[in-house]
Amino acid sequence: MKVLVIEDEKKIASFVRKGLEAQGFVVEVSPHGDEGYVMACSRPYDALVLDIMLPGKDGLSILRNLRERKIALPVILLTARSELNERLEGLNLGADDYLTKPFHIEELIARLHAVTRRAAGTSQSILVVADLKMNLLTRKVARGEQAIELTAREFSLLEHLMRSPGRVLTRVEICERVWDYNFDPGTNLVEVYIQRLRKKVDGDFPNKLIETIRGVGYRIKAGA
Ligand code: CA
Repeated sequence: MKVLVIEDEKKIASFVRKGLEAQGFVVEVSPHGDEGYVMACSRPYDALVLDIMLPGKDGLSILRNLRERKIALPVILLTARSELNERLEGLNLGADDYLTKPFHIEELIARLHAVTRRAAGTSQSILVVADLKMNLLTRKVARGEQAIELTAREFSLLEHLMRSPGRVLTRVEICERVWDYNFDPGTNLVEVYIQRLRKKVDGDFPNKLIETIRGVGYRIKAGA
């Protein structure tokens, strides 16, 4: 897998390069937004790891221009903890995922695998986890033979869980992705929706698919 990293902080760029190369990725790094953008447009990559604050063209402009040019390269944004608005704007502009610095290299690797898998499977319209199936075109969900009726929000929440089986989604991530607004830590919206989803998806089935990771978030079992 060939990955372009546009990041001007030398320490982070070299940490990412070393970590990815150790896992067999081919990595090219650019420390400048203008140069990085030209590389992203002109060479074939499987994914782009993109910093936001860059000399020259900033990360969000790069992302915007790539999408305007219909370049569907999977993009993972690297953001600072304080860049909440940039993160949301990035997701709206078509970023596939983001990581908040500092992060573990394993986390970046897992997300690279997830976004490239997703990109390869864009024509694939059915998500499957154990006996749970979701058809993204007809928007039908079933557990075994039993159809499950979901509201639009519940569907979106379940879709996000099913797109990355085994990966824990934090409450903040779920809020940002499913509700598209700044997270109010006092809200129990996510818990309420998870409860509803559980009732419908896991109900009386002995094999419970939706798991709570206490103090962290939720995930759907991988390969259960
Ligand atoms: Ca930077």
